[in-house]
Amino acid sequence: MSTSIKDYAIATIASHTALQILKGARDEGFKTIAIVTPEVRRVYESFKVVDEFIEIPSFSDYFSIEDQLIAKNAIVIPHGSFVSYVGVEEIASKMKAMYYGSRGILRWESDRSMEREWLKAAGLNLPRVFKSPDDIDCPVIVKFHGAKGGFGYFIAKSPAEFRERIKEFPGENEYAIQEYIVGVPMYVHYFYSELNGELEVMSFDKRYESNADSIGRIAAKDQIEANIRTSYTITGNIPIVVRESMLPMFFNIGESVIKHSKNLEGAPKGLFGPFCLEGIIDPNLNFRVFEISARIVAGTNPYIEGSPYTALRYKEPMSTGRRLARELKEAIETGRLQDLLS
Ligand code: AMP
Repeated sequence: MSTSIKDYAIATIASHTALQILKGARDEGFKTIAIVTPEVRRVYESFKVVDEFIEIPSFSDYFSIEDQLIAKNAIVIPHGSFVSYVGVEEIASKMKAMYYGSRGILRWESDRSMEREWLKAAGLNLPRVFKSPDDIDCPVIVKFHGAKGGFGYFIAKSPAEFRERIKEFPGENEYAIQEYIVGVPMYVHYFYSELNGELEVMSFDKRYESNADSIGRIAAKDQIEANIRTSYTITGNIPIVVRESMLPMFFNIGESVIKHSKNLEGAPKGLFGPFCLEGIIDPNLNFRVFEISARIVAGTNPYIEGSPYTALRYKEPMSTGRRLARELKEAIETGRLQDLLS
């Protein structure tokens, strides 16, 4: 394997965090490839972070161009849209191009009960889950399995209310019932270096969700009269800097999640690279985690020029996209690239 980054390219599907990933790769000296559809191409041309375009009619046609990526010695970076278009099972069993990260881990993060088993073992404070609607004894959030971006979730406070609300979703039998945590949403973005075994906190965000983040603009009386239902459709991300005294807790739980990823079945290398813990901070400062993303998250996008945290550690603007490119560069130059692929 070559130890010069000139012999490699970094490629990803043009969506989600692609601009950040490609900019970061270019800043570290890599050639960049964007896999585009005709609809998005002009965006990626406009931002000048792409050396080469590979066009396909739809992102789900990824496998029709994979041979081109292999011929170009491209390292493929997965992100949220990549995983959803290409598919967890296809990535695990069919992908042949160089894949950055631990593909087996995607099975653990995409299955709610496997994810819970992992996070519980790591000692995280998780919301209660209810096996049966009859057990509901506090406000709950009901999440449908196929729900995209938080659309169609609903809140209920009792078994009777659940039964009433679920009527609006005929045929939807796959859902999780989770304790609804009242507090502020917080998403913590980490980077764990497989090369030096160090965990970095990169940044934090919260999501800007429609209509949840605008309901407070209407008086309670009008909300009730207009029969408004809450939805959590993600539209963007808002940066956060946390109370400094909370940082030890964030480091501790991140380290524990990494430690407990090392014995997950089907993911021999465990979790490494960028990941995110997603939860709610309650008024007693407990971080109640409802999800993990075992890859780069869109909440890192406000920090293309680095975050207040990366500014402390790095001299140059360090986005998560750039951090992972730097890790790949270091691995290539020291003959350890294989350690970062799966
Ligand atoms: P998810 O699809 O699981 O990422 O959740 C979408 C959104 O629903 C989150 O960004 C939160 O605003 C909200 N949410 C999810 N789970 C909970 C919970 N257990 N308690 C309160 N809010 C939640």
